Order: sequence, then structure tokens, then C-alpha cells
Amino acid sequence: MQLRVLGCSGGIGGVARTTSFLLGDRVLVDAGTGVGDLPLDALCGIDHVFLTHAHFDHIACLPMLLDTVIGARRQPVTVHALPETIATLQVHVFNWQLWPDFSVIPDADNGVLRWAPIAVGESCDLDGLRMTALPAQHTVPALGYLFETADGAMAFSGDSADCPAFWGALGRVERLRALIIETAFSNREAGLARVSQHYAPETLLPALARIDPSVDVWLTHLKPLDASCIVAEARNGVHRIAALNGGQTLDF
Ligand SMILES: [Zn+2]
Ligand SMILES: [Zn+2]
Repeated sequence: MQLRVLGCSGGIGGVARTTSFLLGDRVLVDAGTGVGDLPLDALCGIDHVFLTHAHFDHIACLPMLLDTVIGARRQPVTVHALPETIATLQVHVFNWQLWPDFSVIPDADNGVLRWAPIAVGESCDLDGLRMTALPAQHTVPALGYLFETADGAMAFSGDSADCPAFWGALGRVERLRALIIETAFSNREAGLARVSQHYAPETLLPALARIDPSVDVWLTHLKPLDASCIVAEARNGVHRIAALNGGQTLDF
């Protein structure tokens, strides 16, 4: 299975795109601005979207994705998320004011959007890919995800401050090859990281000590102005640690 990074930045500008990963051809994880770079046939082939949380940088392209593919879809696009995330998007986005309610378009029995609530610890099996919701700690209800195939596993933190339950869950994963972990802020902005519930290197490094040195660590959601500083501060001399890049592919 291949993960393609459509977006992994904590902001916009130039080539920066916000969080979205494509797993194989059919599964999207988050729907940030990177989705807009996909060609039309790839957009029409997306069957499942797994959301980490409702923040705008992770859902910005979901409304326009549904609007774009509606004429080409025989089956709905299933959007998996926490019930609280679904409720937020129903009330604040798909409310006929900010955007139409695509769960009842083209008609009430046949919407192009199908909501699928998921809870921490629950898994969803899709043609050889198992998606499991992992705990996260953020300013709104949020998830990480574990992606597993017969060959190996990869974990993604979503947006999170330090979350002991996330690291505990990783400790039970066999064949974990890589971890995509958000590190939005540098240490000089650790106060901002604290109030917005993100990692900075000073909170990430003690947590990383809990995972095996063989696991590759990819940093994501870096604030564009501080990206190189964050990467330098996050090196621990134990793990292979590098910044994730837009357009990059990872196999697992
Ligand atoms: Zn967030
Ligand atoms: Zn975010």
C-alpha cells in the first residue's frame, strides 16, 4: 500500500498545502487543501474519507470534493469521523448556508455524502487495508489513525498535544514501520503549542522515547515560517526523523 502526501503543512503559501494523505486510490485521510491538486479522475475515485477532526485545515476541500464528483458517483463517498466531528460539520458547514447538505443531494435516499461515525479503538476493513481510530488530545474532539496491511503498519497522530493513550496504543502495534507525528510549533512557540494543543519538540522528544528506534518518524503540520527550526530541534539521535514533504510517497 502506498501513502501519497497531498498536503502536510501547518499553513499555506507557495507549494504549502494543508493536511491530506491518499492511501492507494480510494481512501483519503483528511481533506485539506492538498486535495485540490488531484486530477479529476482521481477525485472521482475516492470512496472513503477518514477525518481526524473538524478544523478547517483538515476539511477545507471536503465540501468542494463532493460538489465536484457528484455527477460521476454511483456510490456515496463515505466520510468516517467522530460523532462530534460529524455534528460540527453538519451544523456549521453542510447547513445550506455555508454549503448545501450533500447527504440529501441529489435526493434524500441517495446522497453523495454518507456519514460513518467511528470511535477510538474501532477499525474499518477496506480491501486489505485496516483503518483503526487512535486517541488524540486536541482543542476539539480528535483522532489519529493506524493504517495496516498484511505487510506492515503506519500511524498518524492527527493534530494532538501529548497523548499518553496514543503512545500506549502504538506500543501494542506489530510491525509498525513509520509514524507521522504532528509537530506544529518550535520550542520558542511552546506556549502557543500548549494553548492550541499541538506538539513542540520539547513535548515530542520525551514521548518518542516510548517507541522502537526502528520506527521511522516523519514530522508533519510544521508551521511554514519555523519548519527548519522545528526539524533541527526534534532530532533525538535515536530515531530517523525527517520532515514530511508534499508529493512524497511512503510504502507500508
Ligand atoms: Zn486542529
Ligand atoms: Zn491542523
